[in-house]
Amino acid sequence: MINEVINIEFNERQKKIVDIVKEFQPITSEHIANKLNVSRSTLRSDLSILTMSGILEARPKVGYFYTEESDETMIYKKIEKIKVGDVKSLPVVVDEKVTVYDAIVTMFLEDIGSLYIVSEGYLAGVVSRKDLLKTAIGGNDIKSIPLSIIMTRMPNIIMTYTQENVFEAAKKIIIHQIDSLPVVEKHVKDGQEKYKVLGRLSKSNITKLFVEMVKEK
Ligand code: ADP
Repeated sequence: MINEVINIEFNERQKKIVDIVKEFQPITSEHIANKLNVSRSTLRSDLSILTMSGILEARPKVGYFYTEESDETMIYKKIEKIKVGDVKSLPVVVDEKVTVYDAIVTMFLEDIGSLYIVSEGYLAGVVSRKDLLKTAIGGNDIKSIPLSIIMTRMPNIIMTYTQENVFEAAKKIIIHQIDSLPVVEKHVKDGQEKYKVLGRLSKSNITKLFVEMVKEK
């Protein structure tokens, strides 16, 4: 868009100024004038046209910057506004006393890849498909083992919050090589930090968001 404006309306000297600023930013008008072999007063109107049209930005005592946004910056700015709360889905939450067998049944019925485990209503752990498979193939009596024995437990649970930026949350999923994050709300109970589970942010939520963002264009 901005490039079209440059091609159509800006003169040769203005285009050269933009190229110089792109390469040497921040750069003062004096230095631009030197590079073009013209006086500063000759440049004045060009620079004001370029700053007024948003191509360049003048910062006092620093110089001129090129301000056209790269595609990456524009994508980031769009994603930056999206919060975990905008894309999260409903969690499947079960008590730590539930057996491995019942958890497997729940996973099938709910068509979900991980369960969040609570103790007295607060987040205590997570079990994934593979956690359950491991227990099942280990020859254990899965009808009597409670999830509290096999779950990945607090404080090792990676969590996110409704207000967290979705990009930051997606980075947690990648860094920790997990499929989902419980979306939690912090409570303080008897001087201890506890977490209520409000939702679930999974790789599927991020994939859906990715597809929707492209569809919007
Ligand atoms: P799977 O094991 O089915 O591939 P994940 O990649 O989500 O599924 O889980 C890998 C391991 O990480 C499992 O042991 C699981 O209990 C644990 N885990 C899953 N989600 C979290 C989380 N949010 N925080 C900490 N550990 C997790």
